[in-house]
Amino acid sequence: MLKNFYQIQVFAFLFTMIGIGHAPNLAQASENIGPAHERLIRVRTLSHLKEINIEGAGVSFNQISKFMPVAIPRQKKIKIQVQDGQFVINDFSKQDSKNSVQPGPFLSLKGSDIHINGIPQPQDLLISIANQKIDVVALLPLENYLVGVLAGEMPLHWPMETLKAQAIVARSYAQSVMKERAKKLFHVESSFMDQVFKFSKISDEKRRRAQQAVFDTQGLVLSDPEMRLVKTFFHSDCGGQTSNAKDVWGGSVATETVTDSYCQNNKNSGWKVYFSDQDIAQRLISNKKAKIDRLEFVQSLKDQRVKAVKIYQVKEAQKNSEKDIVVSLSGNQFREKLGYGILRSTKFKFQRTSAGYYFMGQGYGHGVGLCQHGARRLGERGLNAMEILKHYYPQAKLKDISQIDSMSRTAQKL
Ligand SMILES: [Zn+2]
Repeated sequence: MLKNFYQIQVFAFLFTMIGIGHAPNLAQASENIGPAHERLIRVRTLSHLKEINIEGAGVSFNQISKFMPVAIPRQKKIKIQVQDGQFVINDFSKQDSKNSVQPGPFLSLKGSDIHINGIPQPQDLLISIANQKIDVVALLPLENYLVGVLAGEMPLHWPMETLKAQAIVARSYAQSVMKERAKKLFHVESSFMDQVFKFSKISDEKRRRAQQAVFDTQGLVLSDPEMRLVKTFFHSDCGGQTSNAKDVWGGSVATETVTDSYCQNNKNSGWKVYFSDQDIAQRLISNKKAKIDRLEFVQSLKDQRVKAVKIYQVKEAQKNSEKDIVVSLSGNQFREKLGYGILRSTKFKFQRTSAGYYFMGQGYGHGVGLCQHGARRLGERGLNAMEILKHYYPQAKLKDISQIDSMSRTAQKL
């Protein structure tokens, strides 16, 4: 799902560097040593920043063999910028407030009550430079991370069995991408690009419910019948029927499609959005001058989702010649270009106007795997977490991660 990863060489370099110093957590994270619940997952919490302003208590940096504790007084900040691949650190707690320079591209940062640019962060962080910008990566025990995913992905007043099903799915996905991206700088984004991870304060009651859902399912993941870990996708609202991963992203991974009668009849999940031809041309073919002649949609009879879109352009200089197909996209690529939050799903119909298109659709998200709104309804009907999961992943089996740890392959079909 993500494309802009750091290459293996970068990560190897990082561990060469920290091997000289004292950053045991990072080293442990690279190896996936120990029981599943003690493993560390690397979560990119902030990215592409010009500078970061750090507030917190007892904050310290760890740069190769140097250990540099910095006390940040209240109301003061440390500012870090990037210059020629190096960190320029302005420590306002020092009287002369001179900049100090630390070599890049990595800096480990620890402390408590850390805020970066006003956003609360976990206590164990990696600051890295990529393309002269700063990324922040949090290192977290996997089960702690899952509590933040529950808080980010689901309203915590939903049924406990639904929350538990979400916890198992989020754990299976996380374990799967930790294997896939073991050599990358970070395993997951903290956004919907992977799983939404919320670290900001929530009420004690909500936190208790998220913790319970994670704790009661500790170490549990879904496997296929051959004991291979399943990369479990999920989405907000299927609009009536879930999708096959192959239809959404291409590739060879096929998933079951199931019907959600509740989502089919849910009038609240309908949406309507308008795009002018000019707007479509700009977003789809990056050409302000281009004029769209028409779009053609290929719809699947099975689930009424748009599988492919062809964009025909009127060429200014050749008005009388044949119209060309300028771009041909998958339904998911079309959604990506127009905005995932605007064109909420590929389950839509369209209406042509003189200068644009209305899209009328149902559901929210790619439609693959567990449907959160459907899972809520199943939980309300009294189904337990495994029964909910059986509905969305009919062939899946519930296993402890230690049972399938030795298997290096992930499931190709479920
Ligand atoms: Zn659904």
